[in-house]
Amino acid sequence: MTHHYEGSCHCGAVKFSYDGDEITQGLRCTCSICRRKGALMSPEAIPLTALKVEADPADLGLYEFDSKIAKHYFCRHCGIYTHNVTARFPDKCRVNLGCIDDLDTDGFEVIVFDGKNLL
Ligand SMILES: [Zn+2]
Repeated sequence: MTHHYEGSCHCGAVKFSYDGDEITQGLRCTCSICRRKGALMSPEAIPLTALKVEADPADLGLYEFDSKIAKHYFCRHCGIYTHNVTARFPDKCRVNLGCIDDLDTDGFEVIVFDGKNLL
């Protein structure tokens, strides 16, 4: 059964929604950018075709480095990271669980992905 999720950055300039697996765990990655962001991400790699992003292109920041396969999106106003296209699955993305409306991540089991060594 799929669940509908909606989320946004802090100021609301960047909004997203998708239908996917029920979120009951979080994922943390140890790669150089994720360890700095410290965000809990969706364990599910969401197909890009399923993620609907609502933002003025001028408000949606994009950060890329190295291979430029992974794409890290953030709000240019409030600076909050909302989602990223994954390096391993360039047609999929993960969202920042902290951005999802009414999702209580306290007590979530955290899956650690060793991106530092595996990417
Ligand atoms: Zn914002």
